[in-house]
Amino acid sequence: MDLNLTEEQRAVQKTARDFAERRLAPAAHARDKSCTFPTAELRELGALGLLGVAVPEELGGAGAGMVAYSLAMQELARGDASVAVAVSVTNMVGELVSRVGDEAQQRRHVPRLTSGEAVCGAFALSEPQAGSDPAGLAMRAEKTASGWRLSGTKQWITGGDRAGVLVVWAVTDPAAGHKGITAFLVEGGVKGLTVGRLEDKMGLHGSSTAQLVLDGVEVGDDAVLGGVGGGFRLAMMALDGGRIGIASQAIGIARGALEAAIRYAGDRVQFGQPIIRHQAIGNMLADAATWLDAATLMTLRAAALKESGAPFSDAAAMAKLFATEKAGLICDIALQVHGGYGYTTDFPVERACRDVRVTRIYEGTSEIQRIVIARSLLARGR
Ligand SMILES: Cc1cc2nc3c(=O)[nH]c(=O)nc-3n(C[C@H](O)[C@H](O)[C@H](O)COP(=O)(O)OP(=O)(O)OC[C@H]3O[C@@H](n4cnc5c(N)ncnc54)[C@H](O)[C@@H]3O)c2cc1C
Repeated sequence: MDLNLTEEQRAVQKTARDFAERRLAPAAHARDKSCTFPTAELRELGALGLLGVAVPEELGGAGAGMVAYSLAMQELARGDASVAVAVSVTNMVGELVSRVGDEAQQRRHVPRLTSGEAVCGAFALSEPQAGSDPAGLAMRAEKTASGWRLSGTKQWITGGDRAGVLVVWAVTDPAAGHKGITAFLVEGGVKGLTVGRLEDKMGLHGSSTAQLVLDGVEVGDDAVLGGVGGGFRLAMMALDGGRIGIASQAIGIARGALEAAIRYAGDRVQFGQPIIRHQAIGNMLADAATWLDAATLMTLRAAALKESGAPFSDAAAMAKLFATEKAGLICDIALQVHGGYGYTTDFPVERACRDVRVTRIYEGTSEIQRIVIARSLLARGR
């Protein structure tokens, strides 16, 4: 693996960093307080090519690959984790459709995602009773004369109330187990699609998390993505790549918190010297910086493997597991370094602690990542 970034990767990183510092970070606190969805910011990100960093250029993406995408996600999450998660889902949906969609599906949906015209994409897999185990979906798609009729409830769908393009997984053959699941492309605002409720969350207040009720939503045969019965495989494939995005998001949140802690520890004087000179504080920051570096290298390695076409599923699971678990600890250390001030909303580390928590849950919990890694160890026999 080449540890030097290419000129293109550096350019994407810089574009994302500049935007995050200029447009995202200054209003992140206000967005968090008011639970404001970042529609305008997403459209601007589309114009900058950051809603489809890993999506091919001919479909409106930047075509810059997975390493560049990870770098962009890290920068955006450092500015505002809520915006970053919308970018991550939009990129994931855009990449999925550009990989497995037919030409008509690609032309119809992907440019709307990458440009920001669709605001964001939504990945509608989870249901109230099916989270870690998506083979247990209850949403049904019944064949009609002209297509399919979808009925059921989706749970926890990031940006589900805003998305112009949704991928919705449903059971088309209940007798076939996970081979009876199919993915459908559904447009936002379609008849029969309503928002059940918006979750009142611990963090990521600038990101909406919607329960979606599909009551007889009619779609054509041309909405089937990747073939009837192929949906489970598509979901697993998309989640493998998505985990690199979530690892990157966790790294960005942790980096922002650690930088704030280092600044604070250099300024705050107790017992006659800046607290960073007290060994207990210095040691905590040293551990945090070391974990962050390791998490970054693991995540970029998983991204580089994906980009090269090599198997990357276990590398992505390891990166997500390590990056998100350590990011949680790093944010906690950052808050501790701030003392009582860290526990207030006057300093951004409080928000970082809330925002980072979910990275250990979505796109596969830490427990599920360990299952993926253990299975791969078993398969490799070492
Ligand atoms: C803010 C937010 C945004 C989300 N966005 C999306 C989205 O856009 N699209 C989408 O489809 N989903 C989304 N999700 C759903 C998310 O992916 C699920 O919450 C996650 O997969 C866990 O499922 P669950 O909540 O049903 O928990 P469960 O699966 O019920 O798990 C509960 C606990 O049991 C553990 N567990 C489960 N099975 C095992 C096992 N076999 N071995 C060991 N431990 C196990 C889990 O690790 C967890 O600790 C989002 C969730 C949140 C909170």
